[in-house]
Amino acid sequence: MMILDAHSHLGEDVVFDCVHTEEDLSENNQKYGITGGIVQPFIGRPYLEITRQYHNRVSDFCRKYKNYWGMASINPHFTPKDYASEAERCIKELGFVGLKLTPAGHAVDPESKDALFVFENARKLQVPVMVHTGYGIPFADPVKLKKAAMRYPDVKMIIAHLGNGFFADQAIQLALEFEQVYLEPSGCGIGETYKALCALEGKKVMFSSDSPLQIPTELAKYNTILERHPQWKEDIFHKTAERVFGVRPESFAG
Ligand SMILES: [Zn+2]
Repeated sequence: MMILDAHSHLGEDVVFDCVHTEEDLSENNQKYGITGGIVQPFIGRPYLEITRQYHNRVSDFCRKYKNYWGMASINPHFTPKDYASEAERCIKELGFVGLKLTPAGHAVDPESKDALFVFENARKLQVPVMVHTGYGIPFADPVKLKKAAMRYPDVKMIIAHLGNGFFADQAIQLALEFEQVYLEPSGCGIGETYKALCALEGKKVMFSSDSPLQIPTELAKYNTILERHPQWKEDIFHKTAERVFGVRPESFAG
C-alpha cells in the first residue's frame, strides 16, 4: 500500500519550540509504512539566510530519500523581492512542489497584502499553497482564506489541520465551494475528519501527520473510517496528494 504524508516537518521551530531530525522522519516513516511525502521546514528565525539553510536541509533530505518532495516556507513579511527569489529558487532549483503559509508562525493575516503575495508567487510558479489553520485564531480561521480562494481560482490551496476541529465546518465549506481547495486533517479528531470525507465523498482529503509522533494516530483514524468506506482508500493515502502536488512516486515493488 502506497502512503504519502502530505504534511511533515524537518528541522527546528522557534515559534512552536520543537525539533524533528532526519532520523525522526526516516525511522518513523519506515516503522509505520509511510512511502514518502511532502516535507517542509519548521519556522526558523526570520532571516533570509536561515530560511535558505532550512530549505537546503529539506532539499538534502529529499535527495537522500526516495519519494520525498520539498515545500518552501518563507516569511511573507520579507521584502517582496526576497520572498519571490527564495520561492523561485526552491521551486525551480531545488524541485520543491509547494509553498506554505503559517498565519500564527509568520504573524500574517491571510487576507493581507503580504499573504496574497504568497498566492501571487504560487500562481507564477504553478504550485499549490498549504495554509495552517486552527491554532492562532483569528488569523488561522479557515474563513480568512475565502478572499485568496476567490482571487486565485487557478492556485490549488490545501487547508492544513482542517481548522483544528472547532473550525472544521468553515474548512469543509470552502472545499465544497471552491474546486481548487483541498483538506489536510492532521491533528483533527475522527469526527471532523469523517464529516469532511462524507461531505466530499472521499475526495480532496489527504493523509498527513504533521509530526512523526502522530503517524500511528492518523493511520488509526483513517483505517477506522475505511472499514465503512474502503473505496476511499487510494485517494486518501496517495492519489489526491499525487494530483495536488503533481508528484509521481516510484513503487517499492520488487
Ligand atoms: Zn505543520
